[in-house]
Amino acid sequence: MLTDEEILLRTTVRDFAEKQLKPNASALDQNREFPSENIRGLSELGLFGLTVDERYGGNGGTTRQLALTIEEIARGCGSTSVVYIAHLSLCTHFIEQFGTEEQKKKYIPDLARAEKIGAFALTEQGAGSDAAAISLRAKRHDSFYELNGTKLFTTNALEAETFVVLATLDPSAGTRGIVALVVTRDVEGFQINSQHGKMGMRATSTAELLFDNCLLPVGNRLGGEGTAFGMTMRILDGSRIAVAAQCVGIAQAAYEASVDYVQQRHAFGQELSKFQSVQWTIADMATNIEAARLLTMHAATMKDRNLGYSREASMAKLFASRVAVEAADKAVQIHGGSGYFAPTVVERLYRDAKLTEIYEGTSEVQRMVISKSLLE
Ligand SMILES: Cc1cc2nc3c(=O)[nH]c(=O)nc-3n(C[C@H](O)[C@H](O)[C@H](O)COP(=O)(O)OP(=O)(O)OC[C@H]3O[C@@H](n4cnc5c(N)ncnc54)[C@H](O)[C@@H]3O)c2cc1C
Repeated sequence: MLTDEEILLRTTVRDFAEKQLKPNASALDQNREFPSENIRGLSELGLFGLTVDERYGGNGGTTRQLALTIEEIARGCGSTSVVYIAHLSLCTHFIEQFGTEEQKKKYIPDLARAEKIGAFALTEQGAGSDAAAISLRAKRHDSFYELNGTKLFTTNALEAETFVVLATLDPSAGTRGIVALVVTRDVEGFQINSQHGKMGMRATSTAELLFDNCLLPVGNRLGGEGTAFGMTMRILDGSRIAVAAQCVGIAQAAYEASVDYVQQRHAFGQELSKFQSVQWTIADMATNIEAARLLTMHAATMKDRNLGYSREASMAKLFASRVAVEAADKAVQIHGGSGYFAPTVVERLYRDAKLTEIYEGTSEVQRMVISKSLLE
């Protein structure tokens, strides 16, 4: 059950999604254009600071509110939800959760208003699922760290001003050698190279980050030396609830497009909706989406109540991402040949949905998290 406040928030975001996100999603995807207008609109609604503490310019909202918001954003435009999650659930939350008072005051107000875009850089060529294997080197010299190495697949990198970057002080120390640093775009020795050719979520930027003798003050470190692996895992746990909500939104959009289509399209002298196999497909889609939504809201509720939620967040992401991929697949099938062509909504959803089984921990990684919690 949703509270009145939650229903009001969902209605507000849904209205915005109907008026602004949905009508522009296809063009943004086709043009591979960053959704600046969408970001501005969401910021005007106060949504970039939704879960940020009021002391830093946010609205102090709950994880449940965040899940409801992301579902509606993703239902309108998958790419915009990717930008939002990387900015808020990864970058902003990392700084807010682990930064000092001074760091929070310095970075968060601009992020909470989306005046600066945030990004989060963990993945490298040799370190994706095996995040502890990162090799971006941070060498300490008195009051500076010198960074050398490369990050891969950083969402929002072309637009971001503020990056949370994970590096290692000593690769042989594994998880105990990892340090988190705030990197600003203007720092010397830092270069950003766009990565092209994404299958879906094409209105987002993804880039390689190159660090070449890049000097950062020790004051840019979040948390202690060697403590950042645990911090990262906590941030990813939280963000998996956000991705699960994104999956529910994508699946919901696929379902709605399918319901519309089967009531318009005729074959063998009747509406597609009159065929039992089509009816059953629609029933299965709706049931799976509701189950994914409930798992997501359950994980969000656990987080809001300060209960352990790591397993629930992984279960929600694992299940909801499959539901999104399957719903998009069924939606293309229901649309027949026209569903295979851009710019139909379902063609885009089919490409967008797949990312959710890969990023912020693949489905295999979610199964590792879940089984570890069950068997240890
Ligand atoms: C569009 C996009 C945006 C992204 N944005 C970001 C971002 O903003 N920041 C960031 O840091 N990263 C980002 N990523 C990276 C993403 O999180 C990684 O791609 C993901 O974690 C998988 O890592 P990998 O690509 O190295 O695959 P690998 O880890 O090499 O995995 C390859 C395959 O092997 C499987 N596998 C690996 N280990 C095991 C195991 N032990 N048991 C069973 N199967 C296993 C995986 O599940 C997968 O199927 C993004 C990726 C994409 C595609």
